[in-house]
Amino acid sequence: DKGNVGFIGIGTMGREMVRNLLVAGHAVRVFDLNEAALADSVKEGATRAKSPADAAQSADIVISMLPDTPHVEANIYGEHGLLKSPPPGKLIVDMSTISPVAVRRIHADLQKAGVSFIDAPVSGGPVGAKNAALSIMAGGDAAAFAQAEPFFRAMGTTITHVGASGAGQTVKLCNQLICGINIQAICEALALGRASGVDLNLLRRVLLGGSAASWMLDKLGPSMIAGEDGAGFRIDLMLKDLRLVQEHAQALNVPLPGTALVTSQYVDARAHGEGSNGNQALFRVYDRMTNQ
Ligand code: NAD
Repeated sequence: DKGNVGFIGIGTMGREMVRNLLVAGHAVRVFDLNEAALADSVKEGATRAKSPADAAQSADIVISMLPDTPHVEANIYGEHGLLKSPPPGKLIVDMSTISPVAVRRIHADLQKAGVSFIDAPVSGGPVGAKNAALSIMAGGDAAAFAQAEPFFRAMGTTITHVGASGAGQTVKLCNQLICGINIQAICEALALGRASGVDLNLLRRVLLGGSAASWMLDKLGPSMIAGEDGAGFRIDLMLKDLRLVQEHAQALNVPLPGTALVTSQYVDARAHGEGSNGNQALFRVYDRMTNQ
């Protein structure tokens, strides 16, 4: 017996996740501010909702996949939000990457209303979302996690309860810090290889066979080398994540000099109009620095 899902935020990631929930046999009511996104999901078998409260109607679980903390807060605390109109299943899961502090506040406010809240950010990009192969890192109460797990299984392959409320976001921020610095390292290697006259596609292939191999080099390397923009994971969203990483680290007095350095390069990319482009556009910061 499959469940009823309310799903809020059907952008780059959400639309793929909704498709996989439908494929797994769940009924999905979708809400997004973007009409075109809604129309696409409805075509694939989802039902259109008019608000978060409407998406929660008869739902066992409501899942959100929104850009940033304020969007998730609006979804919870807004006039037609989930705090006033929780799903009958009393379970809300946010899979966006947002502030762990905000997550714990939402968790506490919903708990008072008898509703469980799980933070369950993901890694794996749009391709991982499309292939139902996301890594899902969840924070919150064990019983609520167990309730959400069958739905996670429709969207991901590595599903881990990492701790109490907010812990999912903390693990995701660690993930993002590595991704950002790794993309920067790849940019530097490509800039050096290019200046030396090495074939960059060959360079990438060799590196993937050795100890410098990484997801970023594999997935983003080709578009970096070709100078292609393609959205995927936007520069703006990575800047949001690097800001969250630094806020979190400052509150705990953990210095992150590498994160600070790469953040300044992402700021540079956005200042040059790259905010809506994919993370591979960080390479153009190196184009400018090397006058390419
Ligand atoms: P996106 O911008 O493509 O999608 C977000 C969707 O939310 C859009 O369709 C937008 O219209 C909708 N939206 C915004 N505000 C809303 C509101 N108040 N109510 C309803 N809908 C609203 O973003 P994305 O790339 O799908 O990323 C979503 C989240 O997942 C972000 O937190 C991001 O950091 C994280 N994430 C993204 C990737 C990736 O590779 N794109 C990977 C892992 C995690």
